[in-house]
Amino acid sequence: MSRSAHPAGPRHADVLPEGHYSAPAADLNVLDEKVWSRTVTRDADGALTVGGIAVARLAEEFGTPAYFLDESDFRARCRAWADAFGPDADVFYAGKAFLSRAVVRWLKEEGLNLDVCSGGELTTALDAGMPAERIAFHGNNKTVAEIERAVEAGVGRIVLDSFQEIVRVAHIAQRHGVRQRVQIRVTVGVEAHTHEFIATAHEDQKFGIALADGQAAEAVRRALSLDGLELIGVHSHIGSQIFDMAGFEVSARRVVQLLAEIRDEHGVELPEIDLGGGLGIAYTSDDDPREPHEIAKALSDIVTRECEAAKLRTPRISVEPGRAIVGPTAFTLYEVGTIKPLEGLRTYVSVDGGMSDNIRTALYDAEYSVALVSRTSDAEPMLVRVVGKHCESGDIVVKDAFLPADLAPGDLIAVPATGAYCRSMASNYNHALRPPVVAVRDGEARVIVRRETEEDLLRLDVG
Ligand SMILES: *Cc1c(COP(=O)(O)O)cnc(C)c1O
Repeated sequence: MSRSAHPAGPRHADVLPEGHYSAPAADLNVLDEKVWSRTVTRDADGALTVGGIAVARLAEEFGTPAYFLDESDFRARCRAWADAFGPDADVFYAGKAFLSRAVVRWLKEEGLNLDVCSGGELTTALDAGMPAERIAFHGNNKTVAEIERAVEAGVGRIVLDSFQEIVRVAHIAQRHGVRQRVQIRVTVGVEAHTHEFIATAHEDQKFGIALADGQAAEAVRRALSLDGLELIGVHSHIGSQIFDMAGFEVSARRVVQLLAEIRDEHGVELPEIDLGGGLGIAYTSDDDPREPHEIAKALSDIVTRECEAAKLRTPRISVEPGRAIVGPTAFTLYEVGTIKPLEGLRTYVSVDGGMSDNIRTALYDAEYSVALVSRTSDAEPMLVRVVGKHCESGDIVVKDAFLPADLAPGDLIAVPATGAYCRSMASNYNHALRPPVVAVRDGEARVIVRRETEEDLLRLDVG
């Protein structure tokens, strides 16, 4: 859905044609609990607090822009996913959404497993003490060095993504005298985004091995024939920010069909299937994500039903939520620098960050919400576009939103649901210094990833 502004300007917000941005909330001071992390509230002075600490104090101590991560919310979401899936399934947090050593320790303590997809993520996971057997290693082009390291460390599984990689991993495992547990990533011909999914015969994408034309069956044949590999299952990941379970239904059905074919051809029932991640979160009040227990029930019902029909033992299920765990737990805090009203169009509000700390709006046309958080206001709503300080007109943080008309330079505004794919995709464009991630819990705030400094920039530049 496009949320582009009404050409007739903000005053026409109440007569917008369908498909345009929502009308302003009745009260801009209300923080919708759907998009804010669980301990966020306003204190008696009207300032936003998280983990019991007011944003003014956070801004003073840690500066802006900065990401504030609600640790107890993060842990609660980990537990909700683990509890929903229970002891007969495995939840792997997708580290690419946001990874740091503190996060690894929280995952370890809350009983989750961890997906990594690069040597850097693997190093972070191992360094913070995640047991190797709880790590899964993904990626469509893992280097030989990365595979070596993963095999040496003893990771619980490597997800094989191509025919070359089947042989490569088998060879490396054999050289190390081990049998590496692996899954094969298949492309099931389903692509899901938000409220829709598309089922196609051939998927035009770089990931996985197609079910079509017997490709995946051939990959299984090869993997089963190699001594260095222990094939434990089949893996599928169909998209991101998905609300509609129908895509998972088709994908699970196709994966189970493959398991049945494997049994018929080889006489083995593979013990596991992985249905990937991609579960949606609320970025704005219009989004309605499902709870982990609903997702767990839907997925397990689908798999059980399909397995009964195929007379297969029900495999152990894994899922890989990244965004759905960390996304809602953080917000980005910015200070307003300049305010430029464009008569009849909208008001441009420039903040001290931008596309370097949140590329998702520019990259995916992602939607976000924003609120004035250093105070409340009874002023009229004004239509704004929140933009960054980069030399790029596409440097947009929030495309269309409403903020109080008395907004002034120096006010603090915050964008919720920035826990996933913001810091992890942050860049140094314009030699921006990547913001810190500050974990807040029970009245205490602690930096878990520090702010980059100009010294850091110069250190990489060898002159
Ligand atoms: C990106 C990715 C995930 C996580 O996706 P989310 O949308 O963050 O849940 C899980 N599995 C694989 C293989 C991925 O590539």
